[in-house]
Amino acid sequence: MLVVMQHGATPEQVQRVVAVIEEMGYQARPMPGEQRTAVGLVGNDGRIDGSRIEGLAGVAEVIHVSKPYKQVSREWKAENTIVTIAPGVSFGGDEIQIIAGPCSVESEEQIVASARAVRAAGATALRGGAFKPRSSPYSFQGLGKRGLEFLATARRETGLPIVTEALDEEGASLVAEYADCIQIGARNMQNYSLLRAVGRLGKPVLLKRGMAATIVDLLLSAEYILAEGNSQVILCERGIRGFDTSTRNLFDLTAIPLVQRLSHLPMVADPSHGTGLRDKVLPMGRAAVAAGADGILVEVHPNPDRAMSDGAQTLFPDQFAQLVREVRAIAGAIGRRVAEPTAAGTAPAAGG
Ligand code: PEP
Ligand code: MN
Repeated sequence: MLVVMQHGATPEQVQRVVAVIEEMGYQARPMPGEQRTAVGLVGNDGRIDGSRIEGLAGVAEVIHVSKPYKQVSREWKAENTIVTIAPGVSFGGDEIQIIAGPCSVESEEQIVASARAVRAAGATALRGGAFKPRSSPYSFQGLGKRGLEFLATARRETGLPIVTEALDEEGASLVAEYADCIQIGARNMQNYSLLRAVGRLGKPVLLKRGMAATIVDLLLSAEYILAEGNSQVILCERGIRGFDTSTRNLFDLTAIPLVQRLSHLPMVADPSHGTGLRDKVLPMGRAAVAAGADGILVEVHPNPDRAMSDGAQTLFPDQFAQLVREVRAIAGAIGRRVAEPTAAGTAPAAGG
């Protein structure tokens, strides 16, 4: 339930609404807005009687949120949420952000070279996994903490903010010390204790759609993070399991406008995992931007043929540069623009 206050409602009136919600046994989330303040009610699982609140001074209306993913829904918040992962790097506004880098951090030289290459081509954030969720326990699992340190070096060298994955609760606080945005991968989308943990860490989160997750599943997973008080969540389409093995996954482009209609959170897309095939990443990256994605996440490596994971879907730097040029043109055609990399050497101090 959402209690919308009248324009000009006093802080005391807002406080009274909060107190009544708490007396009823729920939690209140005051949300000051440009026009009016709203107070969200959370903690209920089903419709509740709002008549006691409707009669309070300063209350304009009580809206029943029909969606199970309340705080994530546009019913709860009509305007887009802007998620800022570093100064000048925001998702959900007019600008489209480009997150690029290798699947895995393999060495300091490799991640710094990758960061330089993607920045030169126009990326606005660096990706790279230090903790890798691999389908096989015998595949390369990532460099762990050392990988995070190499990412911090790459950020220092290029100014690009870092997006990197946390696999478990314990690792999440370590990742948070280094990352500008914590990635939760497809395999962990429904790891609810991890979602709660990253909700409490207060860092921006990039939440990838699970391989067999519906749109509602994705939004409910995001709700776990928001329910802990962290609304800095970016959603990501990365392909779902289809029956056709011609591609690694079935890249669900319709998820982009669907999610943007249902939720105020930014929605990005990952054509690398979405297709699994290098030569399909360019067309589907272009398509994602044309469909309205707030950003794209692309795997790029200085030498993809030697990549320790996901080489077959990883772009060469010159292919990535071409993709950036093309999505800039597409963005212009739909009234948006692709963000430019921020000045080098302005990286935050965290983790290095
Ligand atoms: C990745 O981004 O490298 C990754 C493991 O992605 P996903 O969780 O979508 O498979
Ligand atoms: Mn990968």
